[in-house]
Amino acid sequence: MVSVLPPEEGNVAVVVRVRPQTQQEQEGSRHAVVQVIDDSMLVFDPEEPCLSGVFTGFRGHDAPKRKGKELKFVFDQVFGESATQEEVFQHTTKELLDGVLNGYNCSVFAYGATGAGKTYTMLGSEKSPGIMYLTMVELYKRIEARKEEKSCEVLISYQEVYNEQIHDLLEPKGPLAIREDPEKGVVVQGLSFHQPKSAEQLLEMLASGNRNRTQHPTDANATSSRSHAIYVKQQDRVVGITQDVQVAKMSLIDLAGSERASTTNTKGERLREGANINRSLLALINVINALADAKSRKSHIPYRDSKLTRLLKDSLGGNCRTIMIAAISPSALAYENTYNTLKYANRAK
Ligand code: ADP
Ligand code: MG
Repeated sequence: MVSVLPPEEGNVAVVVRVRPQTQQEQEGSRHAVVQVIDDSMLVFDPEEPCLSGVFTGFRGHDAPKRKGKELKFVFDQVFGESATQEEVFQHTTKELLDGVLNGYNCSVFAYGATGAGKTYTMLGSEKSPGIMYLTMVELYKRIEARKEEKSCEVLISYQEVYNEQIHDLLEPKGPLAIREDPEKGVVVQGLSFHQPKSAEQLLEMLASGNRNRTQHPTDANATSSRSHAIYVKQQDRVVGITQDVQVAKMSLIDLAGSERASTTNTKGERLREGANINRSLLALINVINALADAKSRKSHIPYRDSKLTRLLKDSLGGNCRTIMIAAISPSALAYENTYNTLKYANRAK
């Protein structure tokens, strides 16, 4: 497998993860609309009989399959349904850790519709922990390996952006205000910072943080974005010389479900006015599009349009590496969401 690191500063690497079909999907539809061809290409077949979740009653070989309408997509990396958490981590986030240990901020976010596998990828389960956990294990390992030369401190925070309000998930409180500090960068006032003793303790913290999410009659999990930030403070161990403390931040984000932010209008002008549209998610889409667009790189990047993009302002663009993990279901039942996610992911490259 090749490196997914963006070739140029400020660029966004885009990878796609196809999750296995659930039992319900397997029973409800006949075959997948997504086929992984190799580790960078997949084919989306829009000519499935079960469009937009409307089941036509065809079964197995009876299903009509018109040829010639397949769409090929190429990404920095494509993970098929058998890809493990470790593999996804190895070929995405792990490659950003060198940058973090050299003082560069970076971000990794999971994008996709509700049920597509974002939380599984970022947080995971106790049995197969995701990127947040694997990142900390690797980070502790690297810090331990160079502890003779550098002293290092790791602080973490976990916050939720829901309805344009920021809440602390580790010490439940909020809404919290954001301000920009000329030295410290983006600061969320009152946000708590923690030093987990081990990666296992971190996992417990994140799991309990997730239980502190906004409870809402409609699916809060679908409409809130959760951002886990890891701050690495380090200093050379040189006796007798005062050294600068270097701080880098890595943001790992489990985004709100993208199904409400239809990507047919990727500029978001028309969508922005909708009442139940997730403003933070749309603003992030716009920021990523502006960054992906080489011409606009020097022009205005609309960080100020939402809480989430203000939060991430110092971890997106500039000399920060960003990896977007687009999560999709291969099921014909998720046809529209999968197609929209692929189209958007393709645009973000
Ligand atoms: P999202 O956070 O995007 O709404 P989830 O991560 O909660 O979606 O995934 C939906 C369901 O699919 C969950 O039950 C999850 O455990 C399962 N799932 C998602 N991705 C995978 C995967 N790669 N392997 C196995 N199960 C998965
Ligand atoms: Mg989720």
